[in-house]
Amino acid sequence: MTDDFQATFYLIASVCFIMALRGLSSPKTAQNGNWYGIIGMITAIGATVFSRDVNSYFLIFFGIAIGGTIGTIIARRIEMTALPQLVAAFHSLVGLAAVCVATSALFSPAAFGIGTVGHIQGVSLVEMSIGAAIGAITFTGSLVAFGKLQGLVNGTPLTFPGQHLLNAALAISVIGLTYFFVQSESYAIFAMIVVISFLLGFLLILPIGGADMPVIVSMLNSYSGWAAAGIGFTLNNHLLIITGALVGASGAILSYIMCKGMNRSIINVVLGGFGGETAVASGPAGAQADRSYKSGSADDASYILENAESVVIVPGYGMAVAQAQHALREMGDILKEKGIKVRYAIHPVAGRMPGHMNVLLAEANVPYEDVLELDEINRDFSQTDVAFVIGANDVTNPVAKTDPKSPIYGMPILDVENAKTVLFVKRTLNPGYSGVDNELFYRDNTMMLFGDAKKMCEEIVKAF
Ligand code: NDP
Repeated sequence: MTDDFQATFYLIASVCFIMALRGLSSPKTAQNGNWYGIIGMITAIGATVFSRDVNSYFLIFFGIAIGGTIGTIIARRIEMTALPQLVAAFHSLVGLAAVCVATSALFSPAAFGIGTVGHIQGVSLVEMSIGAAIGAITFTGSLVAFGKLQGLVNGTPLTFPGQHLLNAALAISVIGLTYFFVQSESYAIFAMIVVISFLLGFLLILPIGGADMPVIVSMLNSYSGWAAAGIGFTLNNHLLIITGALVGASGAILSYIMCKGMNRSIINVVLGGFGGETAVASGPAGAQADRSYKSGSADDASYILENAESVVIVPGYGMAVAQAQHALREMGDILKEKGIKVRYAIHPVAGRMPGHMNVLLAEANVPYEDVLELDEINRDFSQTDVAFVIGANDVTNPVAKTDPKSPIYGMPILDVENAKTVLFVKRTLNPGYSGVDNELFYRDNTMMLFGDAKKMCEEIVKAF
């Protein structure tokens, strides 16, 4: 294939990736978005494989076979709730790939068309150092994020005095070393850039608490995009530059959306220290055993729900863990058949990734028009008979409005407390991901329904 043809196919692939992002912005168009992504990727791989520059088809197909097999197995086995750590693990590989490409370019510049050993173009040396540094930070940072999300590393923020100063000093030394590397093309200096960046990746992510991890994963996603764009410059590959920039920009926008949903600044998240409080309560009574609360059974819940005129269902992370969406939809459908107005309220950061609840409800065929965003539904809670909160906690916690000292202060919440009755489906009185107790459990208009979300919905359906 000539270079012109390849450039044309790369352009088609880039357009497909843009259409894919556009499609993925809404559950209604997400399937089409995925198809655009698949077509774009096939076009990109095809244009690369049939390029004139390919020396060994064996290596390419061997790589695709190994990567494709591992990817297929993981995609089939992965639980939806474990997606953030999977994404973190994949980003670490993108970061490592950036380091490997930069290193190969340094050792074999002629193969990359950027000069000869000892005489590499200055601009290529700068691209190489930036690509390697961002890649190395992404690699170790993503490994720490994966460890925290998977529970292999303690999620508590690890902070020590002078941490930010140390990180700033390391970042400045990477910039300084890049200058000397461009002057000398020294392998030793390049190795120092990579090692310091590896260390920086660890140090940047260790102080970040569990509750902020999804934002950090999205930021690392953004870094991995910029690292890929860096590789694109080194390889002089326009598709990689465009795709890297798309990933970099969309990851940054996603981080911004998440921070907005939690009413936090991105700087505040990056500097860390939030969300490390561990859950203190255990068992239905938990640490708040001295406080009284009402609890009920599925029969009680079915009675209350059947006698309501309007019900708003508020799903959260626990619904995803229990995979309760189908049983929940069945419950909602029965209520609708009984003439009760049923709607679903989605908080922007319910679950563990943006759109988490929308995807699950769409999977269970809940009609899109019944699913409302926070801004659309919040005022209606005061005219709602029952708020049915299933596996959600932080996103309903009024302390976010009342206690400036609370780590979730300022986060917009779903005002379920304004409903006549609030039913909470969860297993215990334990706090949610932020580790903050929820005052609502002890209110007069609240009834706790202790149990697994899916089982509770099934029992309520039986009780109907
Ligand atoms: P929370 O983590 O606040 O609460 C989930 C609740 O689900 C827990 O209290 C738990 O209680 C309950 N639960 C767990 N398993 C089950 C089960 N099998 N059956 C029934 N209940 C269960 O979730 P929310 O969705 O309310 O809030 C999301 C949190 O994640 C927020 O703090 C948000 O800031 C954070 N976050 C979200 C991001 C996003 O993009 N969505 C990004 C960054 C952070 P119990 O153990 O008692 O059952």
